[in-house]
Amino acid sequence: MEIACLDLEGVLIPEIWINFAERTGIDELRATTRDIPDYDVLMTQRLRILKEHKLGLPDIQEVIDGMGPLEGAREFLDWLRERFQVVILSDTFYEFAAPLMRQLGHPTLLCHKLSVDEQGFVTNYHIRQSNPKRQSVLALKSLYYRIIAAGDSYNDTTMLAEADAGILFRPPPNVIDEFPQYPVVNDYEAFKKAFCEASIRDLSV
Ligand SMILES: [Mg+2]
Repeated sequence: MEIACLDLEGVLIPEIWINFAERTGIDELRATTRDIPDYDVLMTQRLRILKEHKLGLPDIQEVIDGMGPLEGAREFLDWLRERFQVVILSDTFYEFAAPLMRQLGHPTLLCHKLSVDEQGFVTNYHIRQSNPKRQSVLALKSLYYRIIAAGDSYNDTTMLAEADAGILFRPPPNVIDEFPQYPVVNDYEAFKKAFCEASIRDLSV
């Protein structure tokens, strides 16, 4: 059997922090690891900003619910789940992803977790483990599954390298240049074809 390991943000749903910043008009929340490379510093800043704007988890979830998955993502995911066991590997948090996972039919998701106080404010975050995407692929391989992994950005490349086959979906130019070994697709129809080609089974779109 083959397992498809999929990244979430940029593949099935919009980038949560960037979209959240746009929807709330809070520009400071646009910062990513490109601006602040230390993830601890970045997350501590994000949680401080949320609290300053008096945004508790229910408010945040309402905004995220309004984002919706990327156009065509649900149909693609349903197609993929008919042909593969699908595991989504993400660096987001369960609490943020929840409204969008509901809209995607609750696929299996491995990601990180938040702490929330009685008032609903996010007080802390808990990273599941270091290099979680690669570790998850390694764990599934130890069960003798064949893995096809797909993602859009730099934080997916160790998972792609560990998998038996890798696919890049709408990656930025620097990732295409640095990882020419992976096929690049830019829409869900091409994505389906790439999965069929990566499979050792005789699959068709
Ligand atoms: Mg991504």
